[in-house]
Amino acid sequence: MTTPTFRIAAIPGDGIGKEVMPEGLRVLHAAAKRFGLALDVREIPWASCDWHAQHGQMMPDDWKEQLSGVDAIFFGAVGWPATVPDHVSLWGSLLKFRRQFDQYINLRPVRLFEGVPCPLAGRKPGDIDYLVVRENTEGEYTALGGVMYEGTDREIVIQESVFSRHGADRVLRFAFEAARSRPRKHLTLATKSNGIAISMPWWDGRADAVGRDFPDVSLDKQHIDILSARFVLQPQRFDVVVASNLFGDILSDLGPATTGTIGLAPSANLNPERKFPSLFEPVHGSAPDIYGKNIANPIAMIWSGALMLDFLTEGQGAGRAAHDAIVKAIETVLAQGPRTPDLGGNASTTALGQAIAGLVEAG
Ligand code: ATP
Ligand code: MG
Repeated sequence: MTTPTFRIAAIPGDGIGKEVMPEGLRVLHAAAKRFGLALDVREIPWASCDWHAQHGQMMPDDWKEQLSGVDAIFFGAVGWPATVPDHVSLWGSLLKFRRQFDQYINLRPVRLFEGVPCPLAGRKPGDIDYLVVRENTEGEYTALGGVMYEGTDREIVIQESVFSRHGADRVLRFAFEAARSRPRKHLTLATKSNGIAISMPWWDGRADAVGRDFPDVSLDKQHIDILSARFVLQPQRFDVVVASNLFGDILSDLGPATTGTIGLAPSANLNPERKFPSLFEPVHGSAPDIYGKNIANPIAMIWSGALMLDFLTEGQGAGRAAHDAIVKAIETVLAQGPRTPDLGGNASTTALGQAIAGLVEAG
């Protein structure tokens, strides 16, 4: 069977994005070689503050045309506040991708690995292993509303949340499918139907409605306050967690924070219909404080690349095998070293990338 060639736009961006990207690509190429996947990688210098310094904007005007032919975007990190304010760099690049390419699913696997100190006492690998699915395009993040009587003591402020049946159902369906594909087949909905008395009971109802197509998946609904507490106190309760934009944003930072270093957490911004390219990036930012020293942990970037291969091949055959081999190599390196300084070692970014690529290639 011949597999198609996957076209990938590699955008390093700023700061440590430029240091972890080569390691992400090194491992992707190693996995492609071993599992017979054809990758056509094009490196793109824009969507970065360096490009902004030369051109006065983050991206060329025809960015959408340039990217519309690719299957996926592999993204490092954006932001260099010393030269471009963060809201300019972010809204001028990453958020344009998310919105224009309708990447309505934000996916973050959360996992505690052997060899990584856990900030929660007494936790061992296996206790923390779940997936956060965040609605990524609507909900609480709108600019609908306004201020009345501004600057007076009668000041009133209103900001609307917007939920659509289309928007909620598609993220719920994705989350049910994800739960179905995992051994425990359990889905938790983040809700707050006791306090947010219109939209959250509505979410509960949509989850029940969509769930009728998934009788093999167990569903529970937890209020966001106690759910957050349980991320810390009883993380083993979770398998797949689905949440609105705001709740998902909070949970998808809280989750990774319980598993040690930010240098490990990957993410995927998906357009599951594949009408537009999806985007895969580490959760961490450009980290100006450690840039230029070759000490950034490349694992979040590398793991994001594994998610990309899995998505591109729809979790089948060679792509799933490549994903699993990369994750296994990450597990081995975390358990045995080498380790970057955030993991308590003194190895370089390059050394970790080489070690993981070597394990992937050797099998
Ligand atoms: P954002 O860009 O998402 O707004 P930020 O700029 O506030 O986030 P990061 O750039 O993610 O934050 O950095 C936060 C802290 O984590 C910094 O001290 C940084 O050095 C550290 N850090 C981030 N990524 C890594 C990594 N890959 N390896 C080691 N340390 C990291
Ligand atoms: Mg930053």
